Order: sequence, then C-alpha cells, then structure tokens
Amino acid sequence: MMNEDLTSEVAQARERLLKQLEQLTDKPAVLRSPDLRALYQRIATLPEDQRGLFGQAVNQLKNELAGLITEHQEAESALPPVDVSAPFALNSEPSRRPGLLSAAMGSRHPISRELELILDIFNGMGFSVVESREIDDDWHMFGALNFPEGHPARDDYDTFMTEQTDTNGKPLIAPAHTSSMQNRVISRYQANLARNEPIAVVIPGRTFRNEDVDARHEHTFYQVEGVYINKGVNIGNLIATLKSFLQSYFANDSLSVKTQPFYFPFTEPSLEFSLSCPFCNQQGCSICSFSGWIELLGCGMIHPNVLKEAGVDPKEYQGFAWGMGVERIIMMKYGIEDIRHFESGKLAFLRQFSAGGDS
Ligand SMILES: [Zn+2]
Repeated sequence: MMNEDLTSEVAQARERLLKQLEQLTDKPAVLRSPDLRALYQRIATLPEDQRGLFGQAVNQLKNELAGLITEHQEAESALPPVDVSAPFALNSEPSRRPGLLSAAMGSRHPISRELELILDIFNGMGFSVVESREIDDDWHMFGALNFPEGHPARDDYDTFMTEQTDTNGKPLIAPAHTSSMQNRVISRYQANLARNEPIAVVIPGRTFRNEDVDARHEHTFYQVEGVYINKGVNIGNLIATLKSFLQSYFANDSLSVKTQPFYFPFTEPSLEFSLSCPFCNQQGCSICSFSGWIELLGCGMIHPNVLKEAGVDPKEYQGFAWGMGVERIIMMKYGIEDIRHFESGKLAFLRQFSAGGDS
C-alpha cells in the first residue's frame, strides 16, 4: 500500500493538472507541465518500498492526461467547419438564429450618398461619368500626365504597389489620384470633338496614398476628377464650372471662391481652389483656421503635353481638369472633424447620416 501522504500528493497534483488541461489551448502541453515533472523527480527521493507504487500512480495519471488529450483532439476534428464571417453561428439551434435584418436597420454610407449627389449635379451640367480603376500602371499614373521619369513631383504621389509588373516591368500601382484616367477618357471621347461637341467627363474613384494617417489624411480616399475639352476653353470656364457646382452642392448661392497659383505637372497654369467658409460666412472659425477660406481642390488648364499624349491637338483645343477630394467636401458640408470616421465602421457615425434616410 502506498502511504496516505503520497496518495494525497498525487491526488492534489492530479487536480492541478486537470485544471491546467482545461485552460490550455495547446492541450498536449500539459504533459510538459512542471507539476508532472516534479512527480517524476519525486520518485527517486522516496523510500524503496514506496517507489514502485508511487511510480505506478504517476504513470497512471500521465496516461489519464494523454487519454483526455486524444479525446479532445478527436472531438475537435469531428466538428463541422465554421464560417467565421457568417452573421450568426451556423450550428446554432434554428430557433435561436436571427432572421434576416430588416433593410431599415441599415443605411447607405455617407460617401456613396454624397458621391451620387455630386455626380448628379455634374450630370445636370452635361458631364458623363466614367469610373476610375483601383489598380493602374506607371504610364497612366505619371507618363501620360507629363511627369517624366525621375521627376521630383512624382514623390508627392507616393502610394502602394503590387509585386506584379506591367509590360514595361514596372510595378502596378494603386492610383494616388483619379487623374490616371485622364488619358483614357480623352482618347475615348475624342470623337466628340470631331462632332463639335466637348469632352465633358467626371471620374469618381477610390485613390490611395502612403500617408501618415491623421484627422486630415487617410491612406484610402475618394476623388472626383473632372475633364472638359473644347475649342476656346479658358480658365474663366473652369472657375465658373466649379463655382456653380459648389453653390449647388452646398445649396448656397452666396458662396464665393478664390484661386491661387499652384503647381501640377499636368496642368498649366495650375490653381488651388478655395471656397469661402460655409460655416462662418467668412467671419473666421476653427474649421477654416480663422482665414475665412477653405482649400478645396487642385485644378488648372490641361497641359498641352497631356492633350498631345491622348491624340488631341493643343493648338486647336484647350481644356481644364480638376481633382476634388470627396471626403473633404463632405467634411465641409457636415462639419465632420476627422476623416478617419468614414472608414471606421462606427455605427454612431454612420447612423447620423441615416436620419431622414433616403433608403
Ligand atoms: Zn470658417
């Protein structure tokens, strides 16, 4: 007979080991537990008449643990696979599964809703819509837009690249601006010019930058590009077009606009377009940094080299283009202080836009 002290020593160790087994994710690790090792080390320290019995008891305990591990592993592999993206546990009792959620509980994302409104306004002004793409090549991103190889302005458009390369061996790019579509739409709608009709296209799209994300910068955002080409187009047409869009979008006819010179390789002259602050009527507020103006977008007259690349004669035709940040204009309209809200998936933010929801 093993003495009582040793019997209870093994029993206590068993309790601890069973508890460890229950808590461990990696069940077989219990066989390497210091508690079990201590039991084996204990054998050599016992009087001879107890060693055999104690050793047997310890082996028995180890076999019990090994058996439990096997049982667990078998149960685990017998479970049907689980779709972790399912909206409820697929294996739950049918009576406990939720029904489909009613559409009234959801709402369109503010970007989708406002983008539609923006495109509607431009549509009313005679612009067609062409969607941008989310992967493009170096030539459309830079070459077609008068950014020569090694041009320092390329650095302002640092974005994400794929390992896959285009036919020139350059990595494909997650476009940093919707302007990568300019060459395509100018080429595609060239027949308009021959019919004495303008090329008038807006290009909504998702764009990407390698940004340090903060309240005003996101790595993923939306732009609406605009391209207008015809005979005798001048910068007054550009300003009037954007101004009338903004007055319509903000439903405010008294908005005024301001331009100041800027630099883009693909427009000449290039302008930065500011809007009188719609929050303070130019009295100065925190949103406009007390200047009364908010910078809204970059624009300019399309560079002759960009027209030429797309097969349009710059001596005969002129055009203007702009690139507008969609989040930025929505932020201005609704007084949203942080661009990160849009992609955060926070319901409290999204629900503000479903009130009075238009489906
Ligand atoms: Zn203001």
